[in-house]
Amino acid sequence: MSQLTGNPEPRHHPPEEMLVQHAAGQLDTARRITIEAHLGFCPRCRTAFARWSQPGEALLSAFGTAPSAGPGGTATAELDPAGELGDSWSRLEAGIDALEEEDDRPTFAPPPPLPPGLRGMLPARLYQRRWRRIPFSTARFTIVEHDQESSTTLLMVHIGPDRLFPRHEHLGYEDVVVLEGAFRDQKGLFGQGDFQLNEPGTMHRPEVQPGAPCWILSRYDKGVRFTGFRGWAQRFGS
Ligand SMILES: [Zn+2]
Repeated sequence: MSQLTGNPEPRHHPPEEMLVQHAAGQLDTARRITIEAHLGFCPRCRTAFARWSQPGEALLSAFGTAPSAGPGGTATAELDPAGELGDSWSRLEAGIDALEEEDDRPTFAPPPPLPPGLRGMLPARLYQRRWRRIPFSTARFTIVEHDQESSTTLLMVHIGPDRLFPRHEHLGYEDVVVLEGAFRDQKGLFGQGDFQLNEPGTMHRPEVQPGAPCWILSRYDKGVRFTGFRGWAQRFGS
């Protein structure tokens, strides 16, 4: 069971190679986010990732840059010997949190649960951004992140229950992580925390399961082509 939501653990995982690259700090921002999202739901990959992270940690401590609490006390105690800062700082933080709680809600649906590790990686006021409709569909998306250098885009997408996502083709790779709900396509059923990697040329038409909306993160490079009726095609977000 997932500690975050009590739902079953993910059954579809990223290739282990991606966990190794993540541990080595080699992933682009969008893929760091999709991998972190999956890790937040997946104890099995967290264990593997921890194993791959160890040599990096060893390297850090060899250079003496790893933070540590020595015999003199914690870093906070050294900065604030009388402990006066702590209280006002937590009040300030609580104030900021309250503001974000108030503002950072989608106007069209309750937000999906986010693993704690992911919250700081997503932009503040994400739901206050422009949410656009995907062609031929009631699905909505917003651009979380676009990196021109690697030409990768990360979208957050909301699809209503029992809805088809329009058929489309991936011109490059796509990572999908399900934050809430579930969809099915020719690769199987993908529920909360599941990670789907689509190779270039993949064509699919995900179908959201009845009962609950589906929230996903989708990272893609090289764009997506929607293939609508009568050969209508639209190149999207490349
Ligand atoms: Zn996993």
